[in-house]
Amino acid sequence: MKIFCVGRNYAEHAKELNNEVPDEPVIFLKPKSALLQPNAAFFYPEFTNELHYEAELVLKIAKNGKYIPANQANKYYSAITVGIDFTARDLQQELKKKGLPWEKAKAWDNSAVVGKWVELTPQILKNPINFSMKLNDTVVQKGISKDMLFSFDKIVANISQYFSVNIGDVIFTGTPAGVGECVVGDVLTGFFEDLQVFEVEIK
Ligand code: ZN
Repeated sequence: MKIFCVGRNYAEHAKELNNEVPDEPVIFLKPKSALLQPNAAFFYPEFTNELHYEAELVLKIAKNGKYIPANQANKYYSAITVGIDFTARDLQQELKKKGLPWEKAKAWDNSAVVGKWVELTPQILKNPINFSMKLNDTVVQKGISKDMLFSFDKIVANISQYFSVNIGDVIFTGTPAGVGECVVGDVLTGFFEDLQVFEVEIK
């Protein structure tokens, strides 16, 4: 099982971190050990002093494939939810400055939270999808799928030019503006439309 992530897929988020808007999807991976298991506790990692949340729509791959054309890509994912791409932002800034890979900032144990899956239907895919996340009682991120620079289909097509996609792989499709810091005691709650799909307490 692989965890693919898309960076800089919303123009407003690229801007808030002073990144350029990419002309091809920015892809990175997290290992399977990054997945926070259901009902497992999330502990603030000791190697960072600036833990950031990034709420994202997450797709589940339902069919094995490679070199998938964009116009066939919707056959390759079957479920969707909201997740958190936890990031050690202080480490990431240091690594970026040195031109080094991001894994130590992004791919550590339990850095990927995946909410309860919602089966995708043509009806859901027909309309723009709204998602949001609350930090304690405040909505801190609100996204809508039509603001993505690269659509679900374009992301799947692009990833599959480089990596085979396999049943059970997941794709974090990028975070909208509003990323920020969280600290011990905070509770993050994710919503797919109006449905709550996860609640994570930082311990
Ligand atoms: Zn992200």
